[in-house]
Amino acid sequence: MSDIGKLVSGFRVFKATTYQKQKDIIGHLLEQGQKPSTMIITCSDLRIPPAEIFSTNPGELYLVANMGGLIPKHDAEGTRGIMSAIENAVVNIGVETIIVMGHARCASIEIMMSDKFAAEKNGLSKSMKTWLSVAAEARDAVKKEMSDKSPEEQQSSCEHESIIVSLRNLVKYPYVAKAISKNKLKVVGWHFNIETGDIMAYDPATKFFEPIS
Ligand SMILES: [Zn+2]
Repeated sequence: MSDIGKLVSGFRVFKATTYQKQKDIIGHLLEQGQKPSTMIITCSDLRIPPAEIFSTNPGELYLVANMGGLIPKHDAEGTRGIMSAIENAVVNIGVETIIVMGHARCASIEIMMSDKFAAEKNGLSKSMKTWLSVAAEARDAVKKEMSDKSPEEQQSSCEHESIIVSLRNLVKYPYVAKAISKNKLKVVGWHFNIETGDIMAYDPATKFFEPIS
């Protein structure tokens, strides 16, 4: 069966089972409008959807996925898509939490750590390089401070550092800063490890990632 055929057949199963079971929730969502309290900004290749990881019902998460789950600086070039999603979540929907979620074995971070990223010629396309450069400072720090470590350790550290860079950028968005100052919004950085099924949360006080309980 082709991939699209597999999807269509999976959709038929969804329509006959899950959709029927969740009809009440979906009906309620249509009546009440969109009001999720949590936004998740994560990577396109997370591999397991956040709704499954957090066992949520439809409408509970406001989800944005991009390469690496990165958040660029406010008003940086080519960032209107993610900026408008964050603005909509914070200003219009009024989410109470934004989770910036990176993950283990992230292919986007792997590309950023590769020689191709730094190559002057025959490297990445302009769009990919511009986007991944959002976390270039994470890459540079890891390359400098962990040059004696294995590529796996460097990759893992870069995944963590990229989350910290994104958080740092996020809290400078004017509407995000305003909502945080009014205690209406909390932003957190999480790292999902698909190999162990664990989530580690960034603790700004200790500057370490600790398991969530
Ligand atoms: Zn990824």
